[in-house]
Amino acid sequence: MKNVITIDGPSAAGKGTVSRILARRLGYEYLDTGALYRAVAWKVRESGIDPADEAAIALMLKDTGITFSNGRVMVDGRDVTAQIRTAEIGELSSRVSAVPAVREKLLALQREICLKGRVVIEGRDTGTVVFPEAGNKFFLDAAVEERARRRYGELKSSEPGITMEKTIEDIKKRDLRDSSRKVSPLKKSPDMVYIDSTGLTIEEVVEKIMNSLNTNEAVL
Ligand code: C5P
Repeated sequence: MKNVITIDGPSAAGKGTVSRILARRLGYEYLDTGALYRAVAWKVRESGIDPADEAAIALMLKDTGITFSNGRVMVDGRDVTAQIRTAEIGELSSRVSAVPAVREKLLALQREICLKGRVVIEGRDTGTVVFPEAGNKFFLDAAVEERARRRYGELKSSEPGITMEKTIEDIKKRDLRDSSRKVSPLKKSPDMVYIDSTGLTIEEVVEKIMNSLNTNEAVL
């Protein structure tokens, strides 16, 4: 499959920024799948549903419309792009992403979006479950302290109560939950190119990906 490039990896590994730049450079669209899980979490919170109540979440999803286009995520026609970027929604999205009905709905949505064109798609299971047949698959990693530093930098202006210690703790908790869940755990498969971005600039990471791109398996 040549029109999709997948980038998986743990929380705050830089997947979003790297994918956005890569997509622009290659003339691809960019799909942030984490934003879709965050959108579901936002709706769960907004509806006052207990995040442990899988049946209620499944029911809610039946009449929930989620779209992602040009970097904006909409829930039932409402733009929630800014609201989903909080530590609370991050944590809640990690919990609801383990619910099978959530994964099922978002799997179909991700495939539908990507089959319309050429897309760089990033998340936790984009190369293992969503598009295992993609010709270019990457796994982007970084040391937990570096990831926490990046996440803390993003959150500290909007969440004054946040500390570096709490951010490290949250990331470790999220890593464990994302990689140990039963459905679609975060996993590097042998056909992914592994990139450790610890100590690298965004530009250096993008360069590494560009240099490792299998051009026979991409529409350029
Ligand atoms: O990447 P981001 O932090 O925005 O993702 C939020 C949460 O959504 C992750 O912690 C993860 O639990 C979930 N997720 C997922 N599968 C994806 C993308 C995100 O389970 N493909």
